[in-house]
Amino acid sequence: MRRLSFDIPMLMSLLTVLGMILATVGTWPPAEALGVLRWPGLALVYAAGGLPAAWTALSALWRQHILDIDLLMVVAAIAAAIVGAPFEGAVLLTLFSVSTTLEHQALGRARRAVEALMALRPETAFRKNAADGAVTEVPAAELAVGDVVILRPGARVPADGVILQGRGGIDEANITGESMPVSKEPGQQVFEATVNLDGILEVTIARTVGDSTIARMIRLVTEAQEAKAPSERFSAWFGQRYTVAVLIGAVLAFAVFYWLGRDWEQALYKAATLLVAASPCAIVISVPAAILSALSAAARGGVLFKGGGALEMLAAVDTFAFDKTGTLTNGRAQVTRIITLDGEDRRFLSLLAGLEAHSEHHIAAAIRREAVIHGIEPAQVMDVSSRPSAGIVGRDETGPVWAGNSYLAREMDASTDRAEFRELEENAQTVVYLGRGSTILGAVSVADEARASSAPALAALRAGGVRRIFMMTGDRRPVALRIGEELGLGPDEIHAEMLPQDKVRQIGELAERGRVAFVGDGVNDAAALARADVGIAMGAAGSDVALQAADVALLSEDMKKLADAHRLARRTASVIRQNLTVAIGAMLVLVTGGLFFDLPLPLAVVGHEGGTVLVVLNGLRLLSDRIRRNADEATPTRRTPEERNVSASVPKVVDERAV
Ligand code: ADP
Ligand code: MG
Repeated sequence: MRRLSFDIPMLMSLLTVLGMILATVGTWPPAEALGVLRWPGLALVYAAGGLPAAWTALSALWRQHILDIDLLMVVAAIAAAIVGAPFEGAVLLTLFSVSTTLEHQALGRARRAVEALMALRPETAFRKNAADGAVTEVPAAELAVGDVVILRPGARVPADGVILQGRGGIDEANITGESMPVSKEPGQQVFEATVNLDGILEVTIARTVGDSTIARMIRLVTEAQEAKAPSERFSAWFGQRYTVAVLIGAVLAFAVFYWLGRDWEQALYKAATLLVAASPCAIVISVPAAILSALSAAARGGVLFKGGGALEMLAAVDTFAFDKTGTLTNGRAQVTRIITLDGEDRRFLSLLAGLEAHSEHHIAAAIRREAVIHGIEPAQVMDVSSRPSAGIVGRDETGPVWAGNSYLAREMDASTDRAEFRELEENAQTVVYLGRGSTILGAVSVADEARASSAPALAALRAGGVRRIFMMTGDRRPVALRIGEELGLGPDEIHAEMLPQDKVRQIGELAERGRVAFVGDGVNDAAALARADVGIAMGAAGSDVALQAADVALLSEDMKKLADAHRLARRTASVIRQNLTVAIGAMLVLVTGGLFFDLPLPLAVVGHEGGTVLVVLNGLRLLSDRIRRNADEATPTRRTPEERNVSASVPKVVDERAV
């Protein structure tokens, strides 16, 4: 264990071990002179090992009316002392104390993931005064939306924002687990707690510290630790009932052995042995040891589960459905073609950018970038509302305007059936029409590329036992087919031109035949994310709504993490099965020994504690799961330079007409 935090339970365990050493030396026949150490040693073990356990057990009984397993251990140790086997009782208390501390340490590691995140948040920021340009250091918590801060090389980003000036590499490993720096330029988002490596950046704050991506992550991880998995709840429930049963059973055993003719000391010794043999410590810790380790490994790999339940469910998933734009594709779309009916390209793009200024969609971002490239100011558009999976509508000084796909055009009674657009529609690219009421003004085509990691991720999922994979998109079928083909999806695995409610219905149908995971990023995906057995949102890049609705957030852009998460979930399920088998098996053997074969108490103790430690260690193996490793180590060519450098993300097939 790398970072042992030194606390009182730990100190008590060390004292218990010390006492045990003294007692052992004192009992060792060759060292007769040291015999004086025996009793102080035993006293130390009973005090340092027994009292804290008794205290925990009694306060749980008193406050929550829960019979703790600790109680069984204390009762067994006392019974051993009464029947003249204080040494065996001491061994029990020592092993129990040590294994409890180890458990505590192990499970604490998972929890510390959150503290580590908090420690990354910078305390102060350098804010630039809008009026005179003076720079002052202020607490990060005081930053307001719209403030401009200056980031020197090496500085952490104090709150989520957008680069106003400057360019440079940003290390986002904290948030995405991705070790390669991402180069960013004006207009791009930066996230709190990521590190500005080389440039001098001016950043406009977009979210206050309380709403930042990292604050959301911290909330997610905290929720995850509180939400218990079903099997975890079961083992806690089971532990409760079972503890009562064991206590009653031990009393009965005492009575029966006594009645069978043993003297009371022998009967009590056997009852104490049974108490230890039958204690469910290993069974109860089997599940949380595995789940907490897996959740922690996943969090470090940039995959956040909102609880153990999501992890268990993901293990059972055999059908994956993916949104296309922003999920399978990198969402860094680029405008490739502009066709206006009146030839007024600049005015057209200005109006379109004015509308899209109000949308969070990837297409909107592409259009805004295009306007910036050509130095075009977006027009003023008011009363804007978005139509998920269709487009966006609003009003300028002349009247209602809209931008969207042919579905929206039809709704506006505008005909897109014109010779000018034929060429756009034949391309396998997304087409966005701009219209004023039922008059079409023109259209742009937007190209989006599959993420480099999508195809290997889908292949890895299939290799990992996923039977069915689908793409569900609101985009046109030709576009969906082109991307699908790159990813190795067949035509019957691709569903295009879907509205949000279609995605939900389809997920519902798939869910009748197996467990379904849906992976999406957008506002239009929220309902499907909620409907699926496991909803997986593209975290840092995705919308807040999607993140809310999902059970799992992928903070990295690397889709292979998704396959890793699925593999980890399956691995966790199998570790839980192994643990329960070992725990129940060990218990059955020990109980049989105690009942029928005069199993000595020390052997019961060693078997019982050994089993407990074994299942905890087995669970801990998940902590070092491959998911934590950086994608770059696993597949060196995973991220192409183009993918890292957003400005070059789409090949320049652009037919750039003089705009
Ligand atoms: P996906 O399901 O692949 O993520 P969406 O459902 O978000 O895609 O969008 C489907 C289609 O709706 C897009 O291909 C586009 O034609 C249109 N659309 C959605 N939002 C906008 C917008 N803000 N501006 C223009 N068109 C949009
Ligand atoms: Mg999407």
